[in-house]
Amino acid sequence: MSPLNPARVAREFPSRYRLEAARCEGCGVVSFPPRVVCPACRGRKFATASLEPEGKVLTWTVIHVGPSSHKHEVPYALAVVELADGVRITCQIADLDPAQVAPGLPVRLEFRRIQEDGEAGVIAYGHKAVPA
Ligand SMILES: [Zn+2]
Repeated sequence: MSPLNPARVAREFPSRYRLEAARCEGCGVVSFPPRVVCPACRGRKFATASLEPEGKVLTWTVIHVGPSSHKHEVPYALAVVELADGVRITCQIADLDPAQVAPGLPVRLEFRRIQEDGEAGVIAYGHKAVPA
């Protein structure tokens, strides 16, 4: 995993931190993070939609040897979570033994500290999934 890029953190702040997605005004498909062109109908008009934080685990893997920024957290589960809107996001599962993660596990996203970049002093916040 590459070191955290402060410019990228700033650019993605609104959508990532507020779970802001874009709902296509042409076909209704929700994209997260928001896009310029709808992947379904190529439309370019969107309305802002806030994602519901509840979802379920689709698939996951257990990380035993992680990047240095997460070395104190291993082992941990990294999962693809499908939210109620159908949006899929990849995030860490927190507050649960990785061996307990199962397909269909109900989870909810919570705002947590993700990593601290020692060099740049940037603390990145984001969402982790916890058992619902
Ligand atoms: Zn569309």
